[in-house]
Amino acid sequence: MATDRVQLYDTTLRDGSQMEGISLSVEDKVRITRKLDELGLEWIEGGFPGSNPKDAEYFRRLRTVELKNARVSAFGGTRKPFSTCETDANIQSLVAAETPGVTLVGKASMYQVREILETSAEENLAMIADTVRYFKALGKTVFFDAEHTFDGFAADPDYTLQCLATAARAGADALILCDTNGGMTTRAMLRTIEAVQQRTRDVRLGIHVHNDAGLAVANSLAAVEAGVWQVQGCVNGYGERCGNADILTILANLKLKMGIDVVEDEQLARLTEVSNYVSELANLVPNGGAPYVGASAFAHKAGYHVAGIMKDERAYQHIEPAAVGNTSRVLVSELSGQRNLLMKLHERGIDFPLTQAEVKALLEMVKERESQGYQYEGAEASFELLVRRTLPGYRAPFELEDFVIVERRSRGLSRGQSQGLGHGFGGEMLAEAMVKLNVAGDLQHTAAEGNGPVNALDAAARKALAGCYPDVANIKLVDYKVRILDSKDATGARVRVLIESTDGVRYWTTVGSSTDIIEASWLALADALEYGLAEGAPVASGG
Ligand SMILES: [Zn+2]
Repeated sequence: MATDRVQLYDTTLRDGSQMEGISLSVEDKVRITRKLDELGLEWIEGGFPGSNPKDAEYFRRLRTVELKNARVSAFGGTRKPFSTCETDANIQSLVAAETPGVTLVGKASMYQVREILETSAEENLAMIADTVRYFKALGKTVFFDAEHTFDGFAADPDYTLQCLATAARAGADALILCDTNGGMTTRAMLRTIEAVQQRTRDVRLGIHVHNDAGLAVANSLAAVEAGVWQVQGCVNGYGERCGNADILTILANLKLKMGIDVVEDEQLARLTEVSNYVSELANLVPNGGAPYVGASAFAHKAGYHVAGIMKDERAYQHIEPAAVGNTSRVLVSELSGQRNLLMKLHERGIDFPLTQAEVKALLEMVKERESQGYQYEGAEASFELLVRRTLPGYRAPFELEDFVIVERRSRGLSRGQSQGLGHGFGGEMLAEAMVKLNVAGDLQHTAAEGNGPVNALDAAARKALAGCYPDVANIKLVDYKVRILDSKDATGARVRVLIESTDGVRYWTTVGSSTDIIEASWLALADALEYGLAEGAPVASGG
């Protein structure tokens, strides 16, 4: 749908991934792209192909991905001083990304041009003009990210306006005003926006704000009220330092508070799911206090609040939580939970007719598992197995009888050599796993070595399965993530393991949780193999 009043532009995959502690694989980035597309965002900034080969690979992968709503933009700088676009490697990597859009960051501050870029005012203007024109000639949508717009304007308003006017004249589709250092207060920002609007009347404006003063969302919304068209932000407010403006909060505010229909109601109802999904892939603990989508956003603890919402939910809630796919924590509505579950089953292609009691039992099971540290938002394959195992006629391709793991560490460098390097530095870890699996009625007993216990377990399990399921060789583990839950329990804490797998066609994620990291890993690994093999499982005879 997308109103023409405001355009949402996500930069989680570029600016957001600059956050401390985030590292996204190419596959993570593709999955997040799909998710943001489903959410109904119009533009997704996929990465900085000139800065790292992983992003270039992402753009190659993306050519085979079909998106329904979103278009993808590649991010890069204007050409280097005194060079040409044709010979500039970064510019050419943007061309090679083959995206419908490019987002060009350029200096819009005299101080930055002189002191940081170390070139002349005129050359910076030529860099902006040349680069914008170059990509317009290639038929791209061009967004000009005017770095340091606001700080630049405060120090030398004429030059900042010149930079913006230059990009506009060269054909930029929108000028994005960036509070790169994130320190602007709202009124000062609005004064700058007004001056820019007067100087560049015929071109659309965008806003890109960092949260260093805690005002990123508020400033972005104020900019929209002042007539700015594109709003940039990151899921969960991820980003360098204090983060970028949280695009999910902005989206919810635009739609629910400002009456701007940036997405459909059904898409808004997936907001919480999108937030959790991206946290899982980023391997970051979700922020419980996040507006709209946090686990605590509609949780009521105070006795009189609870009493109040028992009478009327609106008593202590600013919106109906279901509008953003969240739930009120004291009034967990069983009915809405069941509806979500049924919707999920349908989504996963499980159309088995379930009775009310069966659905309720499933829901209880999910709740029980979640209380044990499982989290199914990002591990849909494990969720699907959880359900399938309860359906009549399902036969697991294998079952674990038991396993034994032996670990050995060889001596590292000699005492003198390893001085100051820690215990046994340079030594090698070797693990051996013995696994007993019941594979379609046959007991398979195998052993294998690996560079760690999980690696050895994986190898032994695959050996046991290979005879009956040669396809197991096609299943590859792509990613392995461990999260410590309740870190206050230190080494006694529960851990959650997420494993991502592929057979070259599909990708799936599974989860395991335990106080024992090996057990949690096994549970996730067993689900990964079971999910990969289940479709090709041989039909058991006589039963
Ligand atoms: Zn930024």
